[in-house]
Amino acid sequence: MKTIVVLPGEGIGIEVVDAACEVLEGIGLPLKILHPPQGAAALKEHGTPIPEETKRAAREADGVLFGAAGPSSSQVVSWLRWEMEAYAGVRPVRFFRGMHSPLVDPDGIDYVILRENSQDLYPGREGDLSELARVMPDLADKTGRTIGHFGAGRFAVKVVTPAGVERIARFAVELARKRQALGKPGKVTCVTKSNVLPKSDGLFQQISERVVRDAGLEFEHFHVDDMARRLVRFPRAMDVVLCMNLYGDILSDLAAETAGGLGLAPSGCFGDGWAYFESVHGSAPDIAGQGIANPTATILSAAMMLDHIGLATEAQRLQNAVGRVYHDRKTLTPDQGGSATTRAMAQAVAAAYRSA
Ligand code: ATP
Repeated sequence: MKTIVVLPGEGIGIEVVDAACEVLEGIGLPLKILHPPQGAAALKEHGTPIPEETKRAAREADGVLFGAAGPSSSQVVSWLRWEMEAYAGVRPVRFFRGMHSPLVDPDGIDYVILRENSQDLYPGREGDLSELARVMPDLADKTGRTIGHFGAGRFAVKVVTPAGVERIARFAVELARKRQALGKPGKVTCVTKSNVLPKSDGLFQQISERVVRDAGLEFEHFHVDDMARRLVRFPRAMDVVLCMNLYGDILSDLAAETAGGLGLAPSGCFGDGWAYFESVHGSAPDIAGQGIANPTATILSAAMMLDHIGLATEAQRLQNAVGRVYHDRKTLTPDQGGSATTRAMAQAVAAAYRSA
């Protein structure tokens, strides 16, 4: 028996996690699902959206499934991702026939965006330009202008360390090797803006290239603006797309849309001896509470979690069940052109799993 902790977060996070639990419970897996206090209710009762007992339960569990963050649950994500150092965001982009892609020919889209989760401009270090001008009066841009030139304003700090790049590049290598064993090309495509930021983004590019080439895998690099275009035009040319934090955040929404929409995009965030799983989308306040959110992203995130906790066969069967529901196009939520509710979609996936 494996123990799973679910943390719905807020907004549609609550609905899609409920739906994923209904699937996990409905397909008879050896799982004990725990619902420790979190989010708005925990904030009211314990004064924090992520109490100590919840952190302990999550650390001790075999798997952790998160819903979506919003204003009252941002601390939950802060803990799951930054305090627990889940530095590798794995975001598969896969088209299943029947998904509502805006591309003319989305067949065969199957790659992974690997987002460096712990550095770059996140979790956010900002200040006033006047403070920066005081401590670094000689800091100049390429044209020779110092900070004093701008007068009043703000700045944000982008951090890139060799150790941080090294560990995410090694993770990319492992991921590409695993995919290679399944018949994929075994290629890492690195995304930076090193032409404008040769020191910070350049460091990311150089170390990634060394680590990937030393591992004997194919390496290529594109600047982020070029990459945005390539993900639309040449999505089938991608295998493992290694992105700096902000670029990965943006490109994974774009990539999700090419496969059919944000409601379909799963993810897993990995650290050393730690992992949690969540959809790429947020709490979607515009549709929250209506029971129409697409639960696919969270169900596929749950499948990634099953794989991680040693239930690989069940994970594959669950993905296949999702594929069958899209193929049949009988039970789809409004974002996919259907009129099914979140629960109905979950029940269809569970039924497809059971009948496989
Ligand atoms: P947050 O601030 O919590 O990140 P947001 O509104 O900025 O929320 P998302 O929650 O990612 O961003 O939503 C972006 C858009 O995608 C919204 O229009 C939302 O309705 C839609 N969307 C996101 N997830 C789903 C889903 N699971 N099913 C259907 N539509 C979704």
